[in-house]
Amino acid sequence: MNQHARLEEKPIPFIDVAAQRRRLGRAIDDAVARVLAHCQFIQGPEVRALEAELASFCGTRHVIGCSSGTDALLLVLMAWGIGPGDAVICPSFTYHATAEMVVLLGATPVIADVEPETFNLDPASCEHAVTTAQRLGLKPKAVIPVDLFGLPADHDAIAAIADAHRLKVLDDAAQAFGATYRGRKLGTVATATATSFFPAKPLGCYGDGGAVFTDDDALAARVKSLRVHGEGVDKYEAARIGITGRLDSIQAAVLLEKLKIFPEEITARGLVAARYADGLADVAKVPVVGNESTSVWAQYTIRLAPGRRDALAAALKSQGIPTAIYYTKPLHRQPAYSGFPLANGGVPVSDRLAEEVISLPMHAYLDRAVQDRIIAAVRHELAG
Ligand SMILES: *Cc1c(COP(=O)(O)O)cnc(C)c1O
Repeated sequence: MNQHARLEEKPIPFIDVAAQRRRLGRAIDDAVARVLAHCQFIQGPEVRALEAELASFCGTRHVIGCSSGTDALLLVLMAWGIGPGDAVICPSFTYHATAEMVVLLGATPVIADVEPETFNLDPASCEHAVTTAQRLGLKPKAVIPVDLFGLPADHDAIAAIADAHRLKVLDDAAQAFGATYRGRKLGTVATATATSFFPAKPLGCYGDGGAVFTDDDALAARVKSLRVHGEGVDKYEAARIGITGRLDSIQAAVLLEKLKIFPEEITARGLVAARYADGLADVAKVPVVGNESTSVWAQYTIRLAPGRRDALAAALKSQGIPTAIYYTKPLHRQPAYSGFPLANGGVPVSDRLAEEVISLPMHAYLDRAVQDRIIAAVRHELAG
């Protein structure tokens, strides 16, 4: 059997979590064993150590580990007192968890459009969303830009709008921790940043986890209290209504090991993205990263001419190459969100992207031979 035939037999993972597990091997086993030995499963020393490492990794004053990316968003919105009558601007082209906690708190997401090149919140549509909220009698309180697929949003333009309208900015960096915007690591760019450590994210743990990043001392203190049932002077005083929002010690121990190789993995992801761009730029619209940002490539998402996507996905699938579509239904097309207001001008770009995008296998351990096979298969289908 020749090399080519062997490669074709092995199914290709879309995101290879197991490859990293094999690489880290004993280091992870030992880290988990240390927690099993000391038995401080909640808020153990690993959680504090991880928060300190993450703070120095991105240069933020405060990092608060929590139970998921969604809870990270919730904790910040709760700390800001977001509730009924308030509007929070969210992009339509995102994973719906971005807007979920806004609704849970009784506030109204006002859904704005994204830019076709970056897939991220369009500042002009964000500005329209402020006007839309006011017209509906809502108080525009905050905006949640998303750094989709690992690429930072246009944060300076969004900050200018936020300043003009006194909006708070909560960066949903669930897919983009480790990326930079104008030389600054995400986590430092907005008033508050939320990230996720879901296993498939660029920095993932072995369960659910997340973190809040901020330089604001008062916000950090409030989020820390809310994460533990609104604790006051001690955990038996309830100063406010909170949640169970803590990160487990075992997950923090896993993340501490993974963080050591994270910069190397970001570099490896960048090389995979560059090879896709070289191999595919003449047959599809490949993502463009301007020189003000770096991406951590949570997804490698290309755009095709309308009507070509299903055939490509089927052709790749028949060759053992998985693809995914993020997102077939933008926020405003989701049953649970279809009743919320759209920014004046609508969200035509989000609708168009939902028809055109397809994501290819992307992770730090995608080897060259396998990637060449993916590129050849995509080229064969799109050129034919
Ligand atoms: C994954 C994700 C979340 C939610 O993170 P969880 O840890 O799964 O709760 C929120 N926003 C975006 C954009 C995401 O991709």
